[in-house]
Amino acid sequence: MSLAVYNTMSHRKEEFRPREEGKVGMYVCGPTVYNYIHVGNGRAYLVFDVIRRYLSYRGYEVLYVQNFTDVDDKIINRAREEGKEPGEIALLYEAAFLEDMRALNVKPPDVAPRATETIPRMIEMIQGLVDKGYAYAVDGDVFFRVESFEGYGKLSGRSLDDMRAGERVEVDERKANPMDFALWKASKPGEPAWDSPWGKGRPGWHIECSAMSLHYLGMGFDIHGGGQDLVFPHHENEIAQSEAFAGTEPFVRYWLHNGFVNIQEEKMSKSLGNIILVREILKKYPADAVRLLALQTHYRNPIDFGPEALEEARRAYERLENCFFALDAFMARPGLRTAPQRTQREVALSDSFFDFERRFEEAMDDDFNTARAIGVIFELAKELNTYLDEQERYQTPAAPMVASHGRDTLLKLCNILGLFSPEAVEAESRGAGASSEETSGGFPTAERLIELLLEVRAVARENRQFETADLIRTRLRELGIRVDDLRDGQRWKYVGPSA
Ligand code: AMP
Ligand code: ZN
Repeated sequence: MSLAVYNTMSHRKEEFRPREEGKVGMYVCGPTVYNYIHVGNGRAYLVFDVIRRYLSYRGYEVLYVQNFTDVDDKIINRAREEGKEPGEIALLYEAAFLEDMRALNVKPPDVAPRATETIPRMIEMIQGLVDKGYAYAVDGDVFFRVESFEGYGKLSGRSLDDMRAGERVEVDERKANPMDFALWKASKPGEPAWDSPWGKGRPGWHIECSAMSLHYLGMGFDIHGGGQDLVFPHHENEIAQSEAFAGTEPFVRYWLHNGFVNIQEEKMSKSLGNIILVREILKKYPADAVRLLALQTHYRNPIDFGPEALEEARRAYERLENCFFALDAFMARPGLRTAPQRTQREVALSDSFFDFERRFEEAMDDDFNTARAIGVIFELAKELNTYLDEQERYQTPAAPMVASHGRDTLLKLCNILGLFSPEAVEAESRGAGASSEETSGGFPTAERLIELLLEVRAVARENRQFETADLIRTRLRELGIRVDDLRDGQRWKYVGPSA
C-alpha cells in the first residue's frame, strides 16, 4: 500500500516517492526566536512531529532538519525594547522553545542549525545569484529580481500582478519591481552584522531557509513543511532563490502546509494579540490532551482551540488513559493465571487487533489523516473496555494474554502519534513521585507530602477504611492530583484542577 501526500505545489494528493528509496529528507521552518511560542506555532511542530514519526514507523530513514531564525528585525526590535543584545534575546527564546517542545513531547530535530551559523553559505548563494543576474545590489542591500525567475508564483498560484494588488509592499525606489525581496540587508549602527562583498549586513529571512535546507539536504529533497501562512512569500521566495541558484528544479519534491489554529475564526497570531502560549496551556492541560486536540482535525484544516474543545480533548485523553489503567489493573489481579485456550469470541477479538492496525495505517497513508487514525484508536479502546466488562461477569482462561495483546496494540498505535510515549512517561515519573529532592529550603517537597498521604491511604485501604481512602483521593483530585490504583500500588500524577 502506498502513502499519499497532499502537495501544495500540485494542489492534489500524490503518491509519496522519495528522492532516494527508503530515505526521507525533511525541512521544517523553525521559530524566529524573539518570544514564547503560541499554540498555533505549537500545532505546526506537533503536525510535523507526527508526520516524521509516521514516516519512521513506515520504515523510512528520516533526516529531519529544523532551523532557528536567530537574526531578524523582530529579534533586533525586541532587544531594543528590553535593553538587551539581540544575541541574548535569541538564546533566551531558543531555550524557551526547546523547553516547550520537550513539554509537548515533540522529538528534537536531527539537525537544528542556527541561521547565524550558516552565514558563509548564504553569502555564497547570494553572490551566485548576483553573478547569474538574478539579484542586484543597491547601497549595501541585495534584492532578488522576481521577474528574472520564470516560475515565480508557481507555489502560491499567483501572478506578479495579483501579488502586487494583494500585498501592501512598501515603496522602495531602489527596487526594479516592488515584489523584489531582500537577500541581504545593510546593517545600521549597533545591529548584528557580518562582512560581505556588499559591506556589513545580515541575511534576509528567506535566504536563510534556502541556505540551511540545501546545506543539509541538497537540491530536490523530499519534504518542506510549515504553516499555510508561509506559502507566500516565504516558500515562494525560497523556491525562486534555490532553483535560480542551482539552475535545476525541483528544490523540493513535496510541499506540506498545516492549517491555522484560530480563535473565534481568526488566525491566532502575535499581531492580532489573540494568542495563547504553549506554556500557559500546558499549566492547565496534559500535553497529550493538547496533542490529541491538534490531531483530531486533519492537519490541513483549521482548528479552533477554545476552552470547550480543550475540555473535550482532556476528557478524550482521560478515556484512553482509563482504558490503560483498567487493562493494567485487570492484568495485575492477584492469582491471575493464563492459559492459551481462547474462546471463539477471543479469537475474533485478537484477529480484530490486526484489523485495527491495518485501518490505522490506511488512515495515516491517506495524507496523514490523524483524525481518522484517532477514531480507530478510540474504537479499539471501546472494544477493550467491553471485553474487560465481560470479564467481570465470567473470567476466561486466556484473558490475561488477550488483554495484554490488546494493550500492546493500543499503546503501539498511540505511540505512533506520539501519545503515551515512553519518553514522556519516563520524564513524568522522574518529575513526579520519584523526585530526588526530598526537601526545599528545609520543608519537605510537595512530592514527599503526597507520598505520605498515599501511604496513609494504603493503610486505610488495608484496614478496609474505604471512606478515608476515598476522601484522600477526592481531596487530592480537587487539588489537581489524580490517584490511580495499580497492580503494584498507587500512582499519582499532576493533571491540573478539574474544571
Ligand atoms: P513563526 O514563528 O511565526 O514563523 O511561526 C512558526 C510556525 O508556526 C510556522 O510554520 C507558521 O506557519 C506556524 N504558525 C504561525 N501561526 C499559526 C497558527 N495560528 N496556526 C497554525 N500554524 C501557525
Ligand atoms: Zn523557512
